[in-house]
Amino acid sequence: MTWPFWAIHVGCFAAFFTEFSWWYVALAFVGYVVRMFGVTGGYHRYFSHRTYSTSRWFQFVIAFLAMTSAQKGVIWWASHHRHHHSHSDMEDDTHSPQDGFWWSHVGWILSNENNHTEEHYVRDLMRYPELVWLNKYFLVPPTVWGVAMFLIAGIPGLVWGLCISTVLCWHGTFTINSLSHTWGKQRYVTTDTSRNNPILAIITLGEGWHNNHHRFQSSARNGFFWWEYDITYYTLKMLSWVGLVWDLRPVPKHLLDSHHESWIKNQPQHLQAIPQPRVVTAVPNIKPLAVAEEV
Ligand SMILES: [Zn+2]
Ligand SMILES: [Zn+2]
Repeated sequence: MTWPFWAIHVGCFAAFFTEFSWWYVALAFVGYVVRMFGVTGGYHRYFSHRTYSTSRWFQFVIAFLAMTSAQKGVIWWASHHRHHHSHSDMEDDTHSPQDGFWWSHVGWILSNENNHTEEHYVRDLMRYPELVWLNKYFLVPPTVWGVAMFLIAGIPGLVWGLCISTVLCWHGTFTINSLSHTWGKQRYVTTDTSRNNPILAIITLGEGWHNNHHRFQSSARNGFFWWEYDITYYTLKMLSWVGLVWDLRPVPKHLLDSHHESWIKNQPQHLQAIPQPRVVTAVPNIKPLAVAEEV
């Protein structure tokens, strides 16, 4: 069922036919940032990677918030993301850009062949009936969001707070599966094409440090160094100060060693020992890992 996806896109054009106010732009912006945090701090860093701990009730809150972004169920999302890390850029990766840029960006999520959930990846999440319920009725959170936008600002609220904000949030999120595996630099040796990209790190609240993340998935921060801004991590840190989350898992010290990068450069035989992702000649801008440059 892809028509709602396209209908929300078409709905954006209603902005040309309704009254304009910067207030509506602010509504779309706030809706984007709050829900992008739900995606990155919720779907990704909590449900997919369990990089911090929280209470059962706040777990439900962040699941609901994440799902207002209309990216299907939280268990479905985590299952596919864990699968991605198990098979990154290999034959079975669900959304590798080596199968085509647009496939990795949006094609895979619209394809019926990916509607299923591989439950063996998400047994830890399926222990919670409230998450299973939410996952099943995944249209409830975005519907509640849409109603809230309508109550706040009427029809322009739907256009800016629902349609435009959601479309931006979708494509911002999708860049991690497409652009973050094709555009940027690689600091660490990983068995995939993941990249670090400071521009993508802005629009995704820190997820653009994707090569860091593929190197060590269990850290609550994707910006490993102080200059790698990571709004999601800063927000999680603030939530920890008020006791809503705790046990934010750190980056292992050896990965922060500045000698690590030169060590990579001076050890080409080590690079050659790493299994290589598939290289499809139809996607010429993807370089095999062995010739990719480091930061
Ligand atoms: Zn990835
Ligand atoms: Zn991940």
